Order: sequence, then structure tokens, then C-alpha cells
Amino acid sequence: MMIELIYKGVKKMDVLGKLNIDEIEKRAFINGEYTDAISGAVISKSLSFDGRKFEGIAACGKADVDIAVAAAQKAYSSGIWSRKTPSERKKILLKLADLMEEHIEELALLDTFETGRAYINYLRDSLPKAIEAVRYFAEAVDKLYDESIPIRGSDTAVIKKVPLGVVGLITPWNDPMVVTAWKFAPALLMGNTVVLKPAEQSSLSAIYLGKLTKEAGIPDGVFNVVPGYGEEAGKALALHKDVRGIFFTGSAEVGKKIMEYAGQSNMKRVALECGGKGPYIVSNKCNRISEAAEVLAKNMFYNQGQICSAPSRAVVHKSVYDEFIAVLKAESEKYVPGYSFDDANEVGCVVSKEQYDKVNGYIDLAAKEGAKIYRPSLVKEKPEGAICITPAILENVNNNMRIAREEIFGPVLAVIKVDSMEEAVDIANDSEFGLAGAVWTDDVNEAFNLTDRMEVGLVHLNSYGNDDNSSPFGGVKQSGIGKDKSIHAFDKYCDSKTIWMHF
Ligand code: NAD
Repeated sequence: MMIELIYKGVKKMDVLGKLNIDEIEKRAFINGEYTDAISGAVISKSLSFDGRKFEGIAACGKADVDIAVAAAQKAYSSGIWSRKTPSERKKILLKLADLMEEHIEELALLDTFETGRAYINYLRDSLPKAIEAVRYFAEAVDKLYDESIPIRGSDTAVIKKVPLGVVGLITPWNDPMVVTAWKFAPALLMGNTVVLKPAEQSSLSAIYLGKLTKEAGIPDGVFNVVPGYGEEAGKALALHKDVRGIFFTGSAEVGKKIMEYAGQSNMKRVALECGGKGPYIVSNKCNRISEAAEVLAKNMFYNQGQICSAPSRAVVHKSVYDEFIAVLKAESEKYVPGYSFDDANEVGCVVSKEQYDKVNGYIDLAAKEGAKIYRPSLVKEKPEGAICITPAILENVNNNMRIAREEIFGPVLAVIKVDSMEEAVDIANDSEFGLAGAVWTDDVNEAFNLTDRMEVGLVHLNSYGNDDNSSPFGGVKQSGIGKDKSIHAFDKYCDSKTIWMHF
């Protein structure tokens, strides 16, 4: 069956005919081969871009995870990967990045097919980011040094970076390849072997990656993919006694379970990248109110709000509030969702009916909690079954309401009016989360003061969402433990070993 990429006569770029879904690989990738789940179980779901039913992706369980971990352990112990030099691993990962680029359209199609996020957005933004992340880490790995310390007399100690062994990666659906690349690239480059459990909502691109890793020259068993449900495949991986580190991106709720699994099993290393409720402070000393509103709308609404670092709590000084909110409402029109495969649309669908119901539940709650709700009136043509949500801007919000405290993970922005910047920073920090935030001000003292005091892993001044592989990404509080990206990310995927030498 060819998936229908023409909708109401709108011809889509050159992607037409590239995705024959019956021929797409849906099996697990273990020890260099594609294989069905031992139980024969498959993932079954509806797709949000047009509501069709889809099934067939292997739903792995504990038995499959055990086989994948055993293959990864064997590959690790053999030294076929762990004993390669960093520059040998670098060359292979650079080749992998080239292959990802060569197949960028297929990867973008698969991710759009499963998640409903706009094809054009994957093609132009998300996948290039993933590919560049692989290149960044590959280029960096042979520039790392171990350390040596002169202790006393003729003694010396060498502190070596050593791989952990088999590591498990568990990823979410909202930016599948980016989050996956942030993890598998440093993990592999440090000499570990990997078992990846992608989200059940977005497994196809990870499965496809298996084939590319083999083509790039990654030996069998070094990179494995076990698609499946979180409570089965994910839990089995996190509980596995031969897995030496588990690197998770997803909700705080599941992140806490991952910590428990590590404690219940073998005290494996845990790193967590979880959710957020990004505070976006706009001061009365900001001279660029329109720009502040434009940047907020883009970062809040561009993937239907399904971004962990989305600035979903605007905290705005009363004296600039009216001007700010007027521009914000006008800007929100640009992010009205449409057909996911139409190259004219930057915004596609939410991922699933469950997510749709959850987000709409919060919009209903907002009304009950006394918020004033604004929604753009523009409607775009899309298939009848498409599951999309028009942006919602919530006013009359205070920080005690659930809509201001809980991660909604949809295009729903809470706007809180404040009397002072002291109040603004208190509200910004009054949250269980601490992923990313922003301060907009043209007063240099205020800029230093507020950015310094905000309890987040990443704070933007007069900007939002600007990105570079060299800057760490991750949160504090219940937004997570440890950071992805940057040279520092390598440290998560290795241990230090001291060799004390007496001469
Ligand atoms: P989720 O927590 O539901 O699932 C994430 C992954 O965990 C999936 O692969 C899922 O199958 C697996 N999982 C679920 N239950 C499990 C269990 N009991 N044991 C082991 N694995 C289990 O999150 P999601 O809905 O896929 O993604 C959205 C969340 O991810 C949001 O909270 C978002 O903020 C967060 N996120 C964070 C970042 C970041 O870098 N901080 C980036 C992207 C997404």
C-alpha cells in the first residue's frame, strides 16, 4: 500500500511515491539482523495525520531485550568496537551521518507518518539537527585527553576514560532522531555498545537507522533497536542487570520509575531528560516587545507545543502586557495546523488521540479555573481524521492553577501578568520543573540579575531556542539529571579509572 501523499489535489514536493509502507522495515534490529518479536506481538495504533489504523511494528518484550543485551554484551567484550581507536570510531560515525543525510527524506517521511509533525519541519529543521549532532560528537571524540597527575616522588597516576559497557537508551516521540542522536553518538563514540528502545509512537526511523549503522560499518551487536511498549521493552531494559547505564528522555513520571528500576536491579548509571514548564519573562525594560512575542509564539506553537523546552508560561510585566498580548495573538495565526505532508505547512498534527484528549482536557480545565481563552479563528484544510489542535493562549492565569504548574505538552500557553520583576522571578522559580527559560530586558543589571536567579538548566536572554551542539541541554529539579549535547555529554557515557603507577 502506498500512503496517499496527495490531499485534495495539493502535490507534495518530490516525496510522492517514496514511502511504500508495506515494504518499510518494522522489525527489531538485533545483532545486525532484523527480527520479529519472539512473541509475534506488534504495536497497534492510529496515525494522527489522517486517523488511519496502523500496525505491524514489532512489540518487543523481556525475551527480546535479553537477546539484544546479550548480543551487545558479546560485542562489547569482544573488543571489536570498544578497542577501536577514537579516530576509527569517528570515521564510522561520520559515514553514518552521511548516510543519514543521503536518506533524510525517508527518515522525515517515517517520522511524519508516525507522529504527524509537519514533514517540512522534520526535513528542514529536526533531521539536519540530528545529523549535525552525530558529526559534532564524531569530530570531537579524538580531541579528548585522559589525565595524568604527578603524585609524589616517582609515583604518578593516570586517570583514564573507560566505556561503561552495554548502555540502554530510551527515547520519546516528539523529536525522535534528534534526541536519539544526542544519545547514541556519544555513547558509541566512547566505546559502549547500545540497545535503543524508541517510543512506541515513533519507532520506524530508529529501526531504519539500524540498517544505516550496518552500512556505515558498525559491527553486529554494537547497535541494537528493540521497539515496543514502555512498560514491557523499556522496563525490561532499565531493569536489566547487564546494562550499565540507562539514558532516558521522556516524562518526569516515567523518569522517576527509571530511577527505581536502577535501584531495584544493579545500581546502573541513570541520566534523565524530562519535561518542563518554561518561564518566559518579559520586563517593562524590554524595548523589543513585538520581537519577544514573535519569538515566544514560534517556540511555543511550532510543533503543536510538543517540545520539552517550550516556553509555556509567559510572565509579563503589566506595563507592557497589552502590547505584548496583541502581537502574540496575531502571531499565533501563523501556527494553525494543517495537513502534515503539505510542504506549505510548518505545523502538522499532535501525535495521537490520547495526546489530543489530554491537551483538550487542559483547555477545558483552563476555562473551569477561570482563564480567558484565545484561539485563532483560521482553519486549514486537512483530512477528516487528522488530529490537530489550534493554539490556545490563556489569560487571567495565576501560578497556582494546574494549567500553570503541569506540563501540558500541547499548543497551550499560560500568560501571567505581574507587577514587578521580583514577582516575575519568584513565579518563574515556583515550579517543579527547571528545563529552559528566558528573560527579555534591555537593562544590563536586570539581565544579569534575573538570568542568574532563574532555576533552569538553560536561560536565554532576549532570544529563545537558539541552539548549538556545543552548548549543554538539560534541566534541574524534576526536569532531569545530567545534560545532553556539548563536550560534557561524553562524560555521561564513560567512567573514570585510575591507574596508580609506582616506578
Ligand atoms: P514518556 O515518558 O511517556 O515515554 C518516554 C519513553 O519511555 C518511551 O520510549 C516510552 O515507551 C518509555 N516508557 C514508558 N513507560 C516506561 C516504563 N515504565 N519503563 C521504561 N520505559 C518506559 O514520554 P513521551 O510521552 O514519549 O515524551 C514526552 C515527554 O518527554 C515530555 O514530558 C517531554 O517534556 C519529554 N522530553 C524531554 C526532553 C528533554 O531533553 N528534556 C526532550 C524531549 C521530550
